[in-house]
Amino acid sequence: MPKTYAVIGDPIDHSLSPNIHNAAFRFLNLEHTYIAYRIPKGELASGIEALKAIKIAGFNVTIPHKIEMMELLDEMDTTCKVIGAVNTVSNENGKLKGYNTDMIGFLDPIKRKNLTVKDAQVLLLGAGGAARAIVTGLVKEKAGKITIANRTLGNARKLAEFAIKNGCNANAISLQEANKLVSDYKFIINSTSIGMNNEPSPISTESISKNSIVYDIIYQPMNTDLIKKSKENGATIIYGYEMLLSQAACSFEIWHKMEAPYNEMKKMLLGVT
Ligand code: NAP
Repeated sequence: MPKTYAVIGDPIDHSLSPNIHNAAFRFLNLEHTYIAYRIPKGELASGIEALKAIKIAGFNVTIPHKIEMMELLDEMDTTCKVIGAVNTVSNENGKLKGYNTDMIGFLDPIKRKNLTVKDAQVLLLGAGGAARAIVTGLVKEKAGKITIANRTLGNARKLAEFAIKNGCNANAISLQEANKLVSDYKFIINSTSIGMNNEPSPISTESISKNSIVYDIIYQPMNTDLIKKSKENGATIIYGYEMLLSQAACSFEIWHKMEAPYNEMKKMLLGVT
């Protein structure tokens, strides 16, 4: 039976999730539909009621609702609880269950490239919602040390405390301090929103070398300034679109209980990024 899925957030018109999921439906000859549905901040509860009324089968959640949505769930899985945010919801006869696929979405591209964060020194730029999922993944994979660099130092400190509480060595610094320390880190991950509007890299790229692994989770544009300069310096690159794709594939598998057509979803995404 054809079902409807959605991504909710605000703004939502530039979301690539409908492209990815509808490409998968077409490839698998499924008659489902995936739509983008704008729910402004402050209107989440009524927006969710509207989705329930049309018997939405499942939906993704993005900025600004990832945390508030947790209050409207009937159930949530462990990852969602640990991260403290939800990005995927299934609707089973009116009961909403929440998941967070950002952590697997973050780790999967690292594994696909046969890389590992185990025992690695990691410099994480940013301490927002995505960073919390990333830190949860880094802790799970036993990173050696996580240094969190952020504009608002207090947010970086809170996230470092979260990592320490979960058994990982972590500290917090400013973005300015990070500039001087780049060469000490194997993994450099950007989870700030700097780059979405083609801004210069959030940190100096001079010390990034062929031994560095640079992961920018921004997916639009695909080649941020950080990625372009790191590529010129010979670093190994992991693109934001790879995380987007992996978290979408993971949501697909939760809803449809079948393997996601990763390559078809990737072809669609590379055609539009
Ligand atoms: P968020 O919760 O709003 O966090 C934004 C982060 O960027 C914070 O650390 C913030 O620092 C920092 N920041 C924002 N503007 C800045 C500026 N002008 N100068 C310095 N730092 C600045 O957002 P989020 O959900 O974590 O998302 C962050 C980025 O990741 C977005 O670009 C989003 O599209 C991308 N993302 C990608 C994927 C994927 O699948 N590839 C998944 C999730 C998110 P403060 O703490 O100082 O405010």
